[in-house]
Amino acid sequence: MAKTLDKVDVVLVGVGWTGGIIAAECAKAGLKVIGLERGNTRNTADYVMVHDEYRYAIRYELMQDLSRETVTFRNTRKMRALPMRQMGSFLLGEGLGGSGTHWNGMTYRFLPYDFQIKSMTDKKYGKNKLSADYLLQDWGITYDELEPYFTKFDKTIGLSGEDKNPFWGKRSEDFPTPPMKRTPILKKFEDATTSLGYHPYMLPSANLSQPYENPDGESIGACQYCGFCERFGCEYGAKSSPEVTVVPTAMKTGNFEVTVHANVVEIMKSGNKVTGVRYIDTQSGAEYIQPAEMVILTSYVLNNAKLLMVSKIGEQYNPDTGRGTLGKNYGYQIEPGTTGFFEEPMNVFMGAGGLGMTIDDFNGDSFDHSDVDFIHGASITLSQTGVRPIQTNPVPPDVPVWGAEFKKQSILNYPRTLSVYGQGASMPHRENFLSLDPDYRDAYGVPLLQMTYNFTEQDRNLHKFITDRTAEIMKEMGAKTVVPGNPISDYDIVPYQSTHNTGGTIMGSDPDTSVVNNYLQHWDAENLFVVGAGNFPHNGGYNPTATVGALAYRAAEGIIKYSKNGGSLV
Ligand SMILES: Cc1cc2nc3c(=O)[nH]c(=O)nc-3n(C[C@H](O)[C@H](O)[C@H](O)COP(=O)(O)OP(=O)(O)OC[C@H]3O[C@@H](n4cnc5c(N)ncnc54)[C@H](O)[C@@H]3O)c2cc1C
Ligand code: SF4
Repeated sequence: MAKTLDKVDVVLVGVGWTGGIIAAECAKAGLKVIGLERGNTRNTADYVMVHDEYRYAIRYELMQDLSRETVTFRNTRKMRALPMRQMGSFLLGEGLGGSGTHWNGMTYRFLPYDFQIKSMTDKKYGKNKLSADYLLQDWGITYDELEPYFTKFDKTIGLSGEDKNPFWGKRSEDFPTPPMKRTPILKKFEDATTSLGYHPYMLPSANLSQPYENPDGESIGACQYCGFCERFGCEYGAKSSPEVTVVPTAMKTGNFEVTVHANVVEIMKSGNKVTGVRYIDTQSGAEYIQPAEMVILTSYVLNNAKLLMVSKIGEQYNPDTGRGTLGKNYGYQIEPGTTGFFEEPMNVFMGAGGLGMTIDDFNGDSFDHSDVDFIHGASITLSQTGVRPIQTNPVPPDVPVWGAEFKKQSILNYPRTLSVYGQGASMPHRENFLSLDPDYRDAYGVPLLQMTYNFTEQDRNLHKFITDRTAEIMKEMGAKTVVPGNPISDYDIVPYQSTHNTGGTIMGSDPDTSVVNNYLQHWDAENLFVVGAGNFPHNGGYNPTATVGALAYRAAEGIIKYSKNGGSLV
């Protein structure tokens, strides 16, 4: 039988960026907070001298154990969904810090257009620009309303960058630290895009250009451009992560505790309020009930949706009728790009997760879409993240993929290959959604989450358009051989693409079309908050975490308000 623990003010399910931010803000405000994290604890000392590509980048040491819990996947409702048994298209985080430990640190704010996409698209292009199968909706909050929370996140992480992009929203304050180094590789991109008439800027990076102390007194180091960043923890404490920023801030208050190896399997509910959560100690198998005044789901897009579904909170989306909001608008992104092979060798082994240059000339509504068959667009970037030696064997298309010639060409081309890629926005579609799998269960007996997802016509059209732009840039950069990526067909969950899953617990201003309000408070249970990229009604043309961080600060403000007065916050 489950043991019932002492009641707390706030229980958090998962302690990554969203859990850490809410822990810090609530604990500073005097609330007693407990974070339940299914993975282990960890900190900077764990990463000293372990640039081990096999262990971290190929064996995924910091990520979710899929033998205990995974998702099932199918492209369409007609197919039988099967479990994802190896990490592939996306990499799920686990442990204190979540994916915030092994993320790259590319930290873009979504565009003003993103938050009002439906009304702005309808106004400029008419209501029929996309068919009714695309479930576009505004977010229930504008960029200007979210701007102070973006600024808060920037300051917490010490974001490095330059305010040079004419297409993004107005920033109320400059970047806390200057941009990263403009390396010779980035200069090639800057020169080429400038000569094509575009507007390059240094990618905003959470790998910091210089040492920084944040407003809570946490110190973040200066990046060494070691190149073992994405999928790794930072041994220099130079990559802003929850464990070097918000988690210690929360701990210092004396109001925050973390219980690790605690896998939450159910949200407890009574009437129209939640009362706490039930969790299983993954090491002993013992079961606990943690009562709380407020429950906050900060367990990433997929687990947030799954916990609501297994706890029967909210109405499951039904693609036949369009009714229900839970699981609706699951989204992903496309990654069109071009590889270029150069004559001259470059220092590709150096880099950082967030080192790069970007243009937004084809992102959001930066250009006129009247004559194209898609909306929105993609950021286009050259990132210098450090090319890892085991996984990277670039060869031009006419070279065999094995044997002596392959080895020779692979060694020759390793320092001579660059790629320019887009992160393409993805519009929600009636047939793309999350639900519970009817057959498969996890190691704790809980049904697995089922993902039904495929690329849409809009994705394919945008992919082609952006691929052509990346090829033009690569040519202008002087590559000897320019190899544009292939067109996309069906979404494949096997090759890595990005951990930019969105939707399923979307935000909005109407309970009929969203799961949470713009404080991320659940419409059906006022003391339940659901936080993460699952709140995005569509996916934009950037990495998500700056927007996730801003939303987490907004939610924290709502939770503190709610703790005083109760009731709906909107
Ligand atoms: C390799 C990689 C690179 C990335 N690079 C970038 C980038 O450059 N820029 C960017 O913007 N984004 C990037 N991302 C995405 C970014 O890391 C995420 O958007 C962000 O970390 C999400 O934070 P979160 O708090 O929502 O979830 P997470 O970080 O996933 O944290 C959720 C936590 O909840 C825990 N949890 C889950 N279920 C349960 C449960 N049932 N009980 C208890 N605990 C639970 C998990 O163990 C985890 O620790 C990257 C992701 C990956 C994997
Ligand atoms: S590239 Fe910089 S931030 Fe990333 S792990 Fe290396 S030193 Fe740390």
